[in-house]
Amino acid sequence: MKYIDEFNDPELARRLLDEIRATVTRPWALMEVCGGQTHSIIRHGIDQLLPEEVELIHGPGCPVCVTPLEVIDKALEIAARPDVIFCSFGDMLRVPGTDRDLFRVKGGGGDVRVVYSPLDALQLAQRHPDRQVVFFAIGFETTAPANAMAVHQARRLGLDNFSLLVSHVRVPPAIEAIMSAPACRVQGFLAAGHVCSVMGTAEYPDLAERHRVPIVVTGFEPLDILEGIRRSVHQLERGEHRVDNAYPRAVREAGNPAALTMLQEVFEVADRSWRGIGRIPASGWRLSEAYRDYDAEHRFDVAGIRTEEPAVCRAGEVLQGLIKPTECSAFGTTCTPRTPLGATMVSSEGACAAYYLYRRMTGQASPGAPAPQGSRIPQEEMNPVG
Ligand code: SF4
Repeated sequence: MKYIDEFNDPELARRLLDEIRATVTRPWALMEVCGGQTHSIIRHGIDQLLPEEVELIHGPGCPVCVTPLEVIDKALEIAARPDVIFCSFGDMLRVPGTDRDLFRVKGGGGDVRVVYSPLDALQLAQRHPDRQVVFFAIGFETTAPANAMAVHQARRLGLDNFSLLVSHVRVPPAIEAIMSAPACRVQGFLAAGHVCSVMGTAEYPDLAERHRVPIVVTGFEPLDILEGIRRSVHQLERGEHRVDNAYPRAVREAGNPAALTMLQEVFEVADRSWRGIGRIPASGWRLSEAYRDYDAEHRFDVAGIRTEEPAVCRAGEVLQGLIKPTECSAFGTTCTPRTPLGATMVSSEGACAAYYLYRRMTGQASPGAPAPQGSRIPQEEMNPVG
């Protein structure tokens, strides 16, 4: 298949569903790691088409959702400074900090700009040598190489008015944390295809072996997801636990060597806090010693920030797959995409936003249904950061 439409073919989807139905004999719980996969599943009603034995649990793979409140508050403080141009992907502008978001900072006079690439921020730094330009570098392994490239370029160009506020996270340690939690029900993973297109699959066989779970590298279109589920169920029914690549059109075992080289040059592995989940060892990246001068946290004095999460928000449980968004009492009432209480209601990859877009009217969206009228999050707030 060559074109994206072919990965939505209803006849092929029916055949994959028939194979899954014919294979499954008992209940299985699979976690799709990435929020992009969650949106595709909910939008196309894939979870409702599966046999009742197969449950999909939504994972923590939404970078906007897991960026810690403390880092959001640091972003707000830096963005409010008069000497700063603060650049971010659009999703981050409405993510609530302790008492405001980046839109409010912008409304109060802060120079906050939406960019589509860290290289756009780099160009701003070149055009405004009298200002400090800070790029909010969040995301998983997918966005980290471009951010590494930006800071590498800044050093090559001798730009000392450019820096990154870094909150990068890594998938394999999150899978480790999920599988090690006493309440974990996950029996297999649909790994995020775009992450593996950068990193390859080398980090997964050990996880699959130690936790005895199949890990199937999966894409984002309906047929990709159904194929990932089919292969996972097939392994589970046979008592297998292997890494399997169901997204070969994008993923090679060795990943993207050029991107990996850039990551190694600029970043080093560090412990990270995940919003709603807590600290996970070795689950993130920070700028390496050689690039520490480009770290906005070092450049600006933002230590000692005190944070406070809204008590009602259960995003941490949503991110760990312990509850569905509709089980939160604020869902669709006090918490909507326009009045979000948690990041999972803001992001284009957040599970709460997915349920609001596709399930809020009836609780049972039709497969492939468009978003309910008037429920769309404005496009500028939806660029995914992976
Ligand atoms: S619906 Fe809103 S308040 Fe509830 S968990 Fe999701 S983001 Fe938090």
